[in-house]
Amino acid sequence: VKYVIVTVVIGALALPTTPAVAATCGTGEPSAFRFPLDEWDPNCNDFWSTCNGAPHLGMDSAPDSGVVGTPVKAACSGVVRDASFHNGYGGVVIIECTTGDECVTALTGHLFPDDVVLGGVQYYGLQVNAGDIVEIGQTVGQLGDRHWYRNGGWAPHVHFGIRKGAYQGGTACDGNWTYAGYAANTCVKKDWHDPALFVPAHNTLPSYSYNGNATSCMGPVSGGSGTGWVYTCERSQNAFRRDQTVQTLIRIDDVQSDHQFSVSAYRNGQFQWEWSPGMNHVGNGWDHSSFWPTLEGGEPGSWRFDYYVDLADDSTGVIYLDTVHFVVLPYAYDGNAVACGGPVTGGWWTDWYYTCQKPRTSFYWGEEVKTLIRLDDVTADHQFTVRAHREGAFQWEWSPGVNHVDGWWQYSSFWPTLSWGSPGNWEMQYFVDVLDGAGPRYLDSASFLVF
Ligand SMILES: [Zn+2]
Repeated sequence: VKYVIVTVVIGALALPTTPAVAATCGTGEPSAFRFPLDEWDPNCNDFWSTCNGAPHLGMDSAPDSGVVGTPVKAACSGVVRDASFHNGYGGVVIIECTTGDECVTALTGHLFPDDVVLGGVQYYGLQVNAGDIVEIGQTVGQLGDRHWYRNGGWAPHVHFGIRKGAYQGGTACDGNWTYAGYAANTCVKKDWHDPALFVPAHNTLPSYSYNGNATSCMGPVSGGSGTGWVYTCERSQNAFRRDQTVQTLIRIDDVQSDHQFSVSAYRNGQFQWEWSPGMNHVGNGWDHSSFWPTLEGGEPGSWRFDYYVDLADDSTGVIYLDTVHFVVLPYAYDGNAVACGGPVTGGWWTDWYYTCQKPRTSFYWGEEVKTLIRLDDVTADHQFTVRAHREGAFQWEWSPGVNHVDGWWQYSSFWPTLSWGSPGNWEMQYFVDVLDGAGPRYLDSASFLVF
């Protein structure tokens, strides 16, 4: 779905002044949740059950078939924080994931920690490492046997716990390891979710995920049906001449709900305009949804586009997505610094475009040497300066005064002249001051020989 806008000034809409910022959790991408076995058939030992003795901080399940060696799957998409052996727990995998609203760590235990052959059968240890990014459903290891140090001697089963918050090592409030499977002290209970409630409540993807793809580009945004509706900026940059079109791009993934983008534009920190292209009706879900606000002929300055999405579900509100920054330059230099022997020609009859008639770089003594420097798209008052050097030594400096630009000039030209310059190698260095407090900026230089 394609939306293109030009600069439109619209009244401000109430927008959150404090963007909703996702805390760093897992990959930062929201995840759905599932149980770690394809056949999830919990036994009596569910959350806070005492059927095996002490209160239990997760739920246990033995698969209906296969049992030892059954693939154990990642319960969510996130980052592995621990994948190692813990005595009595066997191989343990702890994955940090976010629902989009909440950060949790999902623990599975009683896997084979290392490769082992039992009864002539090869079993494999943990297949992920701490720091790995995993996808929900990815196999992380194999269900271990009943050896006491892998599961305390119980019949083979997976232990599955979901602890609230980001991963943390150390000890919990009862003095035991933070990820212990049992706790008699109720101070620990509040730190855990009951998986039997949590997983069904989070078994679908959130209504969208944002993939961080906010960029600006001067050229076209390309993509569409031929690329699976993935859009990209062809030329990403962040400084633009005023006559260039600034396209910016924001994209969200896995969109399950109707939604409406909006953009707020700021220049030099001042709100300029806000715009929304209207509601996107999603039907059965979209892989991607893209939005590319465009700025044409923006005033010079530092610009910022803030992007938002409204899921139109009455409860979520307007969600901040991202920001891009770019600069519209107060002038553009076209590189036209040359030296010429004859007259510089141009003016209103050439639309104020000036050129050197006979560009060259060596001149007889006594010949008038004209040099030319030119700016394009000038939108600011400005003052040129030239500094003349001969044989590398400074000779003189000159400025013709301020040019007052009422709005916009297509060009601004300056041609310092050298008459009766002493023989030798000369260099004219050109500067422009756009009176913004930054002082003269170097533009270019022209070199020539007087002999
Ligand atoms: Zn257990």
